[in-house]
Amino acid sequence: MRRYIIAGNWKMNKTVGEAIELANGLKRELYDVTGLDIVICPPFTALSEVSEVVTGSNIYLGAQDFFWEEKGAYTGEVSSLMLKDTGCKYVIIGHSERRKYFGETNETVNKKLNTALKTGLLPIVCVGERLEEREGHKTFDVVKDHVENSLKGISKEDILRVTVAYEPVWAIGTGKTATPEQAEEVHKFIREIFIKMYGEETASLLRIQYGGSVTPDNIEGLMAKENIDGALVGGASLKVESFSSIVKGVK
Ligand code: PEP
Repeated sequence: MRRYIIAGNWKMNKTVGEAIELANGLKRELYDVTGLDIVICPPFTALSEVSEVVTGSNIYLGAQDFFWEEKGAYTGEVSSLMLKDTGCKYVIIGHSERRKYFGETNETVNKKLNTALKTGLLPIVCVGERLEEREGHKTFDVVKDHVENSLKGISKEDILRVTVAYEPVWAIGTGKTATPEQAEEVHKFIREIFIKMYGEETASLLRIQYGGSVTPDNIEGLMAKENIDGALVGGASLKVESFSSIVKGVK
């Protein structure tokens, strides 16, 4: 059985004080939720303080990115060991905003993935097509390329520590969600790639979450689909009410 995972990507939002307030609110609202993994990914500047709030609760801490080297002369960067040190259990890798604005590629995602696994972090690897690619009927080619190359060379044991987030770029922050059917079609396709790469049993255990304008109103329909194992939530993760409703909407 796959365990659902709902992760909130706070992106470049929340001062330290605001982050502590949000984390405290979520802890209060969600303290009795069991049976799924709840993750919040604040900005780097708030990780330590939010870690203090959620430690010992049912909410895990995650980060939004890091650099693949362990340490050294890489001005402005943060390492996986530093994330671990703040209490992070999860880390997002290859978000489409990083691919778009910061030159992230399948190769850099793969380097980060290897480092994260070595450090003992649980990676959430994002894949997904842009609008013009969907309209040009290239969705499956793009997703295949992202999955095969971002996750290249990962062992059968390690792959089960990875969550894949299918995030159609045209649905991120736009209010346009993929329908449950559109999402399921791609999730099923991703699982089939994993069957080829790792065999049926391992692929059946791999978590594939959906991301793209998930709200309390559409979570139930998405989670009802066989191959959708959770959600990566941007905008709606910034408020206690909406993120808690999404978590509670997972049946
Ligand atoms: C995201 O950025 O990962 C995301 C899914 O954002 P939103 O929920 O705002 O579309």
